[in-house]
Amino acid sequence: MRHAWLSALSHTLLPHHCPLCENATESGLCAACAASLVPLRDACEQCAEPLATTEIAGTLLCAHCLDAPPCFDSTYCHYRYDTNLAFLIQRFKDKGQLGVGRWLCRAMAEQLQVRALGVEAMLPVPDHWRSRCQRGFNQAEFIAKSLQQRLNLPLWAGVRKRRQGSKQKTLSRALRRAEIQGQFVLTQRPPRSVAIVDDVVTTGATASTLAELLREAGCEHIEVWALARTPHPKHVSAFFTQNSEGYSVQE
Ligand SMILES: [Zn+2]
Ligand SMILES: [Zn+2]
Repeated sequence: MRHAWLSALSHTLLPHHCPLCENATESGLCAACAASLVPLRDACEQCAEPLATTEIAGTLLCAHCLDAPPCFDSTYCHYRYDTNLAFLIQRFKDKGQLGVGRWLCRAMAEQLQVRALGVEAMLPVPDHWRSRCQRGFNQAEFIAKSLQQRLNLPLWAGVRKRRQGSKQKTLSRALRRAEIQGQFVLTQRPPRSVAIVDDVVTTGATASTLAELLREAGCEHIEVWALARTPHPKHVSAFFTQNSEGYSVQE
């Protein structure tokens, strides 16, 4: 397997091609592929889970947040998690194509301008040192730094990941939550208002665990910002099927 930095270097030196359709383009995605990405709409205000048609008319919150609200106040996920977005995030995160990550963050940053006014600092979801060695970078930190250039918000690194979890995508919501608790430890007093930054929110268990730590330490306002939010399994359309790697697209 090529190391992330080698992949990133080749993408810097070679003529640029759209990562989705592979047609030549100046930078980022070609206009047609850029237009194919869909911003997330009709999602729960607190956790950003896409709402079912029956829920949209009646409430701004999903059933989970009405029943047992998470410790964070609101969530903003920029894109709907679909075939193209799953592919792009994989290119960014696992293949080290940082230009793809930077491109995805650009439109997201524009939508966060107003929200950023109510936040003092961003907390990228910390990774374990072993993950950082394997991947070469922390994708959440990369996203936060990309947002920082446009939002002028400082990064806050007051949480450490002390142990690595298992492959979380294969676990149920309850098991995943139990598995994540205890992975993180607070090392500094948090700012009054924080945005937790991640690449994809899946069950929200990681964000919930971090938010509980922040809240216990006196943080008053906690948001979650991510590139995308996967739908709850009961809302997954025929477009997706869940396998041992999590969501994948039916061929
Ligand atoms: Zn394209
Ligand atoms: Zn919700």
